[in-house]
Amino acid sequence: MSRLWYSALAPKYELKKAKSVIHPFSIQGYTGMTVNPYQGCQHRCAYCYATYEWSPEFYDKIYAKSNAPEILEKELQSWKGGTISPVMVASATDPYQPAELKYSLTRRCVEILQKYHVPYYVFTKSAIIERDIDLHSKYGQNCLVVWSITTANERKRRIIEPGTSPANRIFEVIQRFTDAGVPCGVNVDPIMPLITDTDEELDAIVDCCKQAGVKYIFGAILRMRQDIWERMKQVLNLLAVPDGESRYKEIYEIVDPLTKAYIPCNREYAKRTTNRLIEKIKSHGLCPDFPGCLRPQKIDRACIGQTTIFSFTETSSD
Ligand code: SF4
Repeated sequence: MSRLWYSALAPKYELKKAKSVIHPFSIQGYTGMTVNPYQGCQHRCAYCYATYEWSPEFYDKIYAKSNAPEILEKELQSWKGGTISPVMVASATDPYQPAELKYSLTRRCVEILQKYHVPYYVFTKSAIIERDIDLHSKYGQNCLVVWSITTANERKRRIIEPGTSPANRIFEVIQRFTDAGVPCGVNVDPIMPLITDTDEELDAIVDCCKQAGVKYIFGAILRMRQDIWERMKQVLNLLAVPDGESRYKEIYEIVDPLTKAYIPCNREYAKRTTNRLIEKIKSHGLCPDFPGCLRPQKIDRACIGQTTIFSFTETSSD
């Protein structure tokens, strides 16, 4: 039985020491480096892909890698080769989940990336990133901030991803970032069949993106996995989607029991839904793709030996 994603209890925070923090990753054709300052995530998304069985407390226990900035700096100092691919902050947790207000590890890691002139993408579902608008805006075109937004419908969001920020709040923050000249994208991911795939849902997000000055919108349809399926069945029930379970079985060609491998939705549904999203994005004059604006760059080693002075904006001790 898969664990429930929903809980009224606050997660526990625990400090841990990381041996390394920058790692290669590959997601659906994109490769690069990633930094995850935290392990676990308080956003509690039912569809989360990062809830592996080796991380059973994923939603309830958040590990803060207390030495992440220092280890990151050491790894960049001894980087083999002169160039580095854009770094994704973060790939297996949200770097601006509430723990960041306590530990500021994401901010400090970003300060290190900037010090060594490393290009980076930030992926978040949180308005907490607003705290760091000064930091990201001073890095100009060398970073891209991407908000993952699945729905502008607040009733659905509270059920599907109760720990994330409401979409209207996110779009206020995006507006501030685009006004400050930070390149911004929105990732409509995952699009959940029968839940967030309607014209009304997709139009609401694309319209808000246009108004907030977002240039890039892209998205992907939910991939299914054993534990995600268990949670999605509950979501379908809570949202009272008519025949939700049986229609999902058709869309994903599910034969219970599922394995731990991912399965995509069927091709016909994927093509139809993806094309609808792309048409909506293009009709607003926006780019329907992940931007290739960040390129591998030469690490700036001139700063080696300079002391890093971190800017603490909130309480950073346990
Ligand atoms: S924000 Fe991302 S990492 Fe966190 S629970 Fe949601 S999907 Fe998982």
